Amino acid sequence: MMTATEIKAKIDLHRQEIYKKDIAFFEIDQLKKYAELLEKESEHCTECSSVLERLVTLSDEYPRMLNSGRKGRQEYEQETELIWQHLQSHGYKRKGYTENLYILIGVLLGIIIGLISKLLIKEDNTLLFIELMLGLIIGYIIGKIKEQRLIKDGKTV
Ligand SMILES: [Zn+2]
Repeated sequence: MMTATEIKAKIDLHRQEIYKKDIAFFEIDQLKKYAELLEKESEHCTECSSVLERLVTLSDEYPRMLNSGRKGRQEYEQETELIWQHLQSHGYKRKGYTENLYILIGVLLGIIIGLISKLLIKEDNTLLFIELMLGLIIGYIIGKIKEQRLIKDGKTV
């Protein structure tokens, strides 16, 4: 089987075959990260080995896909989505995803609690505002802690 280092070299080799803006837009460098993670996980996951095989094919085929219009681009996105789906099953998350998720949950809970207390205690919007801010801060803190733990465990991509 091909090693992550070989796959990364292959991806780099084909880089000049596509437009610069496509390299950024289609996150070509993300594929290199995927290669490393799949190699690591394939030690104890057979599905990772087969997903890694698809990545080997993709690392040769991506310039053709990205240069052949909508259909090829869809093909590329399906392949990368499939790889990402499998990595998610190993607990990998996008950078910042967890942090933002908890901030959102905090704000929403703050608003809900704020609206309930506004209904119960008739007063101006001060309490609503305070509870919204509290939700934001608590969500931020929990999100930050969870995100840091994921980063420490090498689970962010
Ligand atoms: Zn796996």
